Amino acid sequence: MTEPLYRSDSHARTAEARIIAITPEGGLIADPMLFYPQGGGQPGDSGWIDWDGGRIAIATTLKGEDGASVMVPAEPAPLPPIGAAVTLRLDWDRRHSHMRVHTALHLLSVVIPLPVTGGQISVGKGRLDFDMPEAPQDVPALEAALNALISRDLPVTTDWITDAELEANPGLVKTMSVKPPMGQGRVRLVRIGAGEAQVDLQPCGGTHVARTAEIGRVSIGKIEKKGRINRRVTIELQD
Ligand SMILES: [Zn+2]
Repeated sequence: MTEPLYRSDSHARTAEARIIAITPEGGLIADPMLFYPQGGGQPGDSGWIDWDGGRIAIATTLKGEDGASVMVPAEPAPLPPIGAAVTLRLDWDRRHSHMRVHTALHLLSVVIPLPVTGGQISVGKGRLDFDMPEAPQDVPALEAALNALISRDLPVTTDWITDAELEANPGLVKTMSVKPPMGQGRVRLVRIGAGEAQVDLQPCGGTHVARTAEIGRVSIGKIEKKGRINRRVTIELQD
């Protein structure tokens, strides 16, 4: 199985692929995998599969065995056979919105440097839950700081690091805003900004924009109290 395209090239919108499996429930698995499977608070991708003589709409994508992208048809319809050459087409507007919101949430955790207890991404908006006993005093200032980071047009890059390298570099873990999951051999790191201008580094398996200006302007919406120490902060894309 080749490296998933959603991971190696988050801006790939279409891919020539081959159907390699169909699950008992009628989900389709193709190689390479273009569609992001639901996980980490980010919804699964939707789109279409075209083949010689057919087209099927995909409603969402779920994570199957070994992390495979299982594309779920929107309605019962004839499926391409195993082995068929197909063209995978993302619903790019939806996915790109998820990428913009997702990357904006990384930056939200920079301007609110508190432990994150949960999060959710959808089209045009998203939220993070923080371990935040006191409500922020100045929300317009937080919003301005968030948009200032976006306007710096910082590069968003990814690296893989092995568990052994992490253990040998405790300082690196210290600079991360989220503790990396260990025990799978390697961890994917998402870095925003580079060198002296690095503003965030955290383990993440989702899809992100290439540079922060691609997010566009965002607003911070309501801040809700969730339990004794948690507060939920919602952001919305403005462009
Ligand atoms: Zn991420």
